[in-house]
Amino acid sequence: MDLNNLLRKNIKNLLPYSSARDEYSGEAMVFLDANENPFNQPYNRYPDPLQKKLKEKIAPLKSVAPEQIFLGNGSDEPIDLLIRAFCEPGKDNAVSISPTYGMYQVAAAINNVAIKEVSLTNEFELDAAELLKEGDENTKLIFLCSPNNPTGNCLDKEAVLEVVKNFRGIVVLDEAYIDFAPGKSFLPSLHEFPNLVILQTFSKAWGMAGIRLGMAFASPEIISILNKIKYPYNLNILTQQKALELVEKREQVEEWVNLLIAEREKMRQLLSEFPFVIRIFSSDANFVLVKMHDARGIYEFLQEKGIIVRDRSKVHLCEGSLRITIGSPDENEQLINALKELI
Ligand SMILES: *Cc1c(COP(=O)(O)O)cnc(C)c1O
Repeated sequence: MDLNNLLRKNIKNLLPYSSARDEYSGEAMVFLDANENPFNQPYNRYPDPLQKKLKEKIAPLKSVAPEQIFLGNGSDEPIDLLIRAFCEPGKDNAVSISPTYGMYQVAAAINNVAIKEVSLTNEFELDAAELLKEGDENTKLIFLCSPNNPTGNCLDKEAVLEVVKNFRGIVVLDEAYIDFAPGKSFLPSLHEFPNLVILQTFSKAWGMAGIRLGMAFASPEIISILNKIKYPYNLNILTQQKALELVEKREQVEEWVNLLIAEREKMRQLLSEFPFVIRIFSSDANFVLVKMHDARGIYEFLQEKGIIVRDRSKVHLCEGSLRITIGSPDENEQLINALKELI
């Protein structure tokens, strides 16, 4: 893979915006270079454009170098940036699995980039050969998601490897739910694959969806491309500060994850006892996909009770299924009690 060939020409030739904090990033007594207001400390100052402090905290947690980390306004930012860096609008395309997370399709469509979807098998497995066959000379990106949303399962490791090893473009592996699937991340093998980008997020296991903080891990060369085209100050001061505080609470996160995994398995058991439930798919994430008779009716019944789940009954391969997030033990019990009224 030759990154320079893969990149759009205008991005390769782009001279990025150079902010005051890019040109001088050290400490100083007096900062009179960025037209900031001297009052209202500390919010008067522009944030660190490369989030160095935060990356230094995240790097050891993930066993990667800070140069292998991109931080964005949610995972949605690196998804959009990858499309914009590599796909020429109206010409290049990307390939994704189906069903999967809707943002790849939307981000591509906004950029006038076609996405060719390749169906998973009926058991939600990845057919690597089928996926690779769908690519053509204009295919620059492949989007994989493991554990996959909305199906909940991890994709087979060998199938993912086959895609990464045989595709001549960039493989984006979205691991938003990987904390709920211990031992299954591809992050430890990142250094073996110069064409692999792994996405993770603080929105799920870390309980920080509200601060908008997504991560991309890749080679320093790919990370510097993302840095070159991002908004100069893409992560605000508040997000960086809050994340610095919360990354110290790793044990808390582990407790949440263990509890949610235990609740997930409990909920799978309890849900399986309802006569209208046809199948509960196994899950490596913090949600379960449940196929049931009259999924839409049950969705509406729950909504009237003030309990909102996600209706996926019109989604390819998920016909008749609801996606249920695992909540607190109390929330989960409320859901079960509401469903009991249907019997
Ligand atoms: C929730 C989710 C994300 C997280 O997106 P953020 O923008 O980081 O909140 C990413 N990918 C998938 C598949 C998700 O379900």
